[in-house]
Amino acid sequence: MKIIFATNNQHKVNEIRAVLPSHFEIITLKEAGIDIDIPEPHDTLEANAEEKATTIYHLTSIDCFSEDTGLEVDALNGEPGVHSARYAGEEKSFQKNIKKLLLNLEGKENRTAHFRTVICLITEGELNFFEGVCKGHIIEGQKGMKGFGYDPVFIPDGADKTFAEMGIEEKSRYSHRRKAVDKLVEFLNQ
Ligand code: IMP
Repeated sequence: MKIIFATNNQHKVNEIRAVLPSHFEIITLKEAGIDIDIPEPHDTLEANAEEKATTIYHLTSIDCFSEDTGLEVDALNGEPGVHSARYAGEEKSFQKNIKKLLLNLEGKENRTAHFRTVICLITEGELNFFEGVCKGHIIEGQKGMKGFGYDPVFIPDGADKTFAEMGIEEKSRYSHRRKAVDKLVEFLNQ
């Protein structure tokens, strides 16, 4: 089964390809010849995921899915959340975002946080949503060079290293994205 994954983020593509069963083939926007920066204007992950999937579905009429992910930090009332990509500004700098997060958490005892992924799938014009959550905590410095985004500061519950110290397979044992993809696959297999 071929399906478009509505993202320009190669890290997300690699992570999802690593956990999808072999009978699913995902086509990236680049491979589909689509070169657009899909808008994320809404204040929920669900609405942004829907916007991305519907934008691509209207362009291609091909079944597709998108995902939107946020890091929700308890001591910051769920921030950066839906604003995770642009937390420190429009340039979407991973390093600036991490620095702002660590600064805002300085002196706070509670460092618990979770990643939340929402996938929006459109098949035959119908929308379905799948969620995956990974609980953990934010460390004080940065550790590891792998992954992307906030990976160097996040240790998932049950692990003793950050996502950025793990390869894709190990990250996938814990990750929000894998949990959402599992639900997507279960649905598509029905
Ligand atoms: P979006 O889903 O592309 O809007 O992602 C929002 C932001 O969340 C990204 O720019 C990353 O900074 C961050 N992010 C999303 N997924 C992950 C992840 O798996 N690890 C670390 N950071 C992530």
